[in-house]
Parts: sequence; structure tokens; C-alpha cells
Amino acid sequence: MSAEKPAANPLEGKSPFELRLDQSAGVPESAVKQALESGDMGFMHSFTTGSTVDGPGVRAVGWTAGCLWRCLYCHNPDTWNLMNGMPVTLERAVEELGKYRHGLKVMQGGFTLSGGEPLMQDRFAVKLLTAAKAMGIHTAIETNGYLSERLSDEELDQIDLVLLGIKTWGSENHRNLTGKDIEPTLELARRLAVRKQPVWVRFVLVPGLTDDPQTLAPMAKFIAGLGNVERVEVLPFHQMGRFKWQKLGLDYTLDDFKVPSPDLIESTCGIFRAEGLKAV
Ligand code: SF4
Repeated sequence: MSAEKPAANPLEGKSPFELRLDQSAGVPESAVKQALESGDMGFMHSFTTGSTVDGPGVRAVGWTAGCLWRCLYCHNPDTWNLMNGMPVTLERAVEELGKYRHGLKVMQGGFTLSGGEPLMQDRFAVKLLTAAKAMGIHTAIETNGYLSERLSDEELDQIDLVLLGIKTWGSENHRNLTGKDIEPTLELARRLAVRKQPVWVRFVLVPGLTDDPQTLAPMAKFIAGLGNVERVEVLPFHQMGRFKWQKLGLDYTLDDFKVPSPDLIESTCGIFRAEGLKAV
């Protein structure tokens, strides 16, 4: 008799780079609507543990499905569609996270909710982060800020750290890169500054697309003026998501773009440091 296969953990994804499609295809539209309104169920792309690059310490990361932006360099375009996420009840997600609570504390880490864009499922995000915080787990959200007006001040209180993606500077540049306005992102940045809530800014450096020092200098000035930004993370562009665009039949326009050289990364960090920011 063969050994019984252990039940698969619906939260455990192998990697956020894994291509995921149509995992919620069988869920009726009314159930999706109800889930979004109540936050009692979320649509997850994957769940990883042991991350050291998504906030302080060692972290568990939940990658949600759904995003309204279309960043030209997005390495997870399969997260754009909410229905590509696996339906997971809030109860199940909290239970799973609870298993890691002690380890995460010992490793001075916590839980980061990322995506996609987690605020596409703002009720689920709030409930999950609130539950994590109630367990004594440090909470972080990685967001582009576009839907942040959905969060009340009390809900923002449940988030210890905001990893805010600022993709470029200037309305036109931002529209060309992401398809959406920059203003809601800046509005969240200002709101968090008034609240003195810790922020790490995340910026993807693409040579020939986002590396113009003339564009970056005013962006650095804005970020430094906020007063609550603990660090700016300059994330080197890579081509690891290209195959997903191809598999999804999407028009990928960055085929000929190179990864940034160490010198370019250093000089870009220098633009932020010149404003007194910590840039890494
Ligand atoms: S905001 Fe993030 S998930 Fe959305 S398109 Fe841009 S890089 Fe992709």
C-alpha cells in the first residue's frame, strides 16, 4: 500500500516567480464579490517564508493577486488578475501564519503582505494584518499606494511598516511606466509622513528607463522632505519575469533592456544619499 500523500498547504507557494493562472476560475462571481466586501476570504498568488528582502529580519510573505497597474517591468504579471489567485479563507491564512509567529519573532522579522497590489483586497488585507499584529507579529505591507484611501487611520495603525513603491517621478513618466497617475502614491506618502509612520521606499532601477538623474533628483528631494522614510531600496531590474509575459501573450517591451551595472546602482544610491537618505 502506498503512503498517503500529505494534504497540500493551500498557502504554501514554491516561489513568487512561479506562473499561476486561473486558480479561482471555478469561484462564482457572487462569492468573489462577497469575499472582497467582507475580507473573510482572499485570493493569494503564493506564500513564502524565510524572506530577508521584504522588510526587516526574516519574514513570511503573502503574495496577493490583483493589480490595476501595468508596470512595464512587472515580474509578476500573472498576479494582475485577481482570478489567478488561490482562494484562501482568512481563518486558514491566520492559522498558517500563527505557526510561524515564534520563529518570526526570534528572527526579528514579521509578516509582509505583498502582491500584486494587496489593497485590491483591502478588507482581507486589513483583517489579516490586524490578526498578525494581535499575535505580536511585526506587520508590513508592500503597496503602490494607489488604493490607500480605502484604509482608515485606525487600519493604518495595524501596519508597522509600509514598503511604498515609487516607480519614477513626474506625471507623464509615471503614466508611461505604470499606466496610472502618480498622485495617489504621493498622497499616501504625505499621509504617512504626517502620521510619522515608518516607510521604506522601493524603487526599481532600469537603465534607460528609470535612471535619469534629472528625474531622480526631485524624487529624492521629495522623499527626504517627508521625514519618515527610513531607507530607500534601489532594486536592480532583472529579466526573470519575461517568460511570464510571453506565456500570457502580453507584449513585453523591455527585451533589450539590460540589468544595471554596480556603478549605476551606486551612483543612483548616491542621488538619494545626497539628500541625507539611507539608500541600499
Ligand atoms: S504595481 Fe507591482 S504588481 Fe502591479 S504592475 Fe507594477 S510591479 Fe506589477
